[in-house]
Amino acid sequence: MIVIIGAGLAGLSTASFLGRVPHKVFEREATVGGLCRSHQVDGFTFDQTGHVLHCKSAEIRRFVEKLLGNTLVSHSRHSAIYSKNVLTPYPFQVHLHGLPQEVIRDCLLGYVSTLVNRESSTHTRSPSFKAWILDNFGEGIAKHFMVPFNEKLWNVPLEELTTEWTGLVPRPALQDVINGALGIGDREFGYNTRFFYPRSGGIQALPSALLQRIRSVECQKEVIEINTKSRRVHFADGSMEHYEALVSTMPLPELLRRCTDLPKTLRERGEKLRWTSVYAVNLAVMRKNISSQHWIYFPEKTFPFYRIGFPMNLSPAMGKVGASSIAAEIARRPGEDIPRSRLIKQTRAGLIRAGVCRPDDTFVVSEVRDIPYAYVIFDRERGKIVPKMLGELERRGIYSIGRYGRWEHTSMENAIQQGKDTATRLRRF
Ligand SMILES: Cc1cc2nc3c(=O)[nH]c(=O)nc-3n(C[C@H](O)[C@H](O)[C@H](O)COP(=O)(O)OP(=O)(O)OC[C@H]3O[C@@H](n4cnc5c(N)ncnc54)[C@H](O)[C@@H]3O)c2cc1C
Repeated sequence: MIVIIGAGLAGLSTASFLGRVPHKVFEREATVGGLCRSHQVDGFTFDQTGHVLHCKSAEIRRFVEKLLGNTLVSHSRHSAIYSKNVLTPYPFQVHLHGLPQEVIRDCLLGYVSTLVNRESSTHTRSPSFKAWILDNFGEGIAKHFMVPFNEKLWNVPLEELTTEWTGLVPRPALQDVINGALGIGDREFGYNTRFFYPRSGGIQALPSALLQRIRSVECQKEVIEINTKSRRVHFADGSMEHYEALVSTMPLPELLRRCTDLPKTLRERGEKLRWTSVYAVNLAVMRKNISSQHWIYFPEKTFPFYRIGFPMNLSPAMGKVGASSIAAEIARRPGEDIPRSRLIKQTRAGLIRAGVCRPDDTFVVSEVRDIPYAYVIFDRERGKIVPKMLGELERRGIYSIGRYGRWEHTSMENAIQQGKDTATRLRRF
């Protein structure tokens, strides 16, 4: 028997590709979907902050298209950055036009000096994320966007972050930076310039469609302990399940804590893994078309959120006619507790200051949702210990997969791919 813990995309995908191979899926929550759950409040649908689909792999894309059929709508990305009281298109480094002249000058001079330094420099690898920003973008872009934005998101000094995950950050050529400063937009940048989103139901439509391919998922079954020698999983309701192989998609530190017979040193090192948590502040106002963007980034500290999204611009079915919904993301340290009323008050005030909302707007929805595990922190400790941990777990028949199982910064596509790959490996046994 193969036991799968967690019915997010990685767990559901594993089960779906295992087909007739005997397996059982156990999920702690009452519904499936993990981070891809959506919920309704007074006629508005919210994801756990906007989840848009982008696929590099043609195979995964075909799979998703088959799952969701013609309910999948293709979008051309509209995203922007709000800073210095100006809205400029994303990414910042190739859209300086419209910013104050001194900001543009700082950014251009800094960027040009990185090219000069690169020619004379002997080092090939930046020792930290902060150094990587300075090496690749220069002091101006670092000061006016990259550093403040990332400090807000990660909540740790950027010198402590490594660079393995930076493939997602677009690195432009000089011509693109100059064109962007002059307002000549002749190219698109980034991994998600086009994306898909379900016509209705929010991103939950994806896990719900995957569920149709699976025999069953047992919900409200929280794994509290795993004995890796006897290969038994114990649940909070007192029940137990024996496994030959275990696929876990729960966060790696949680898994290590529950595997009570792992070497003590490994479990202790698991406690050193770091991550950021996010509050999603979901709001709705009775005024239509408050923004033409899908989402907007906010690097400045005077705004509590690092990003706001507009769910109804992904699909009008996400809300009511004549209204607009907003999902603001506020990063925090795990365990940090900010009163909900303060988060809502500060978010509304920030939106009014940015000109997104008006002082006389009527808020018909104001709620806060918590995402305890949001962004894995890539620090030096992670690079050293995670491969060892995954190896030791596999020797004990445990395949830890998914964004938090592998402890990485990956997308929905990756979660589906990892489920497929793991099922393929397990089918060979
Ligand atoms: C703020 C944010 C925005 C994002 N936006 C995008 C986006 O736009 N596009 C994109 O492609 N990706 C996005 N992602 C990434 C995407 O959400 C993940 O890659 C994907 O959902 C991960 O799926 P998963 O199955 O690996 O993990 P999860 O969805 O976390 O699933 C794990 C499951 O395990 C269950 N579980 C945990 N502990 C236990 C236990 N003890 N017992 C039983 N069950 C348990 C959980 O309840 C959960 O259902 C975003 C992520 C975040 C945080």
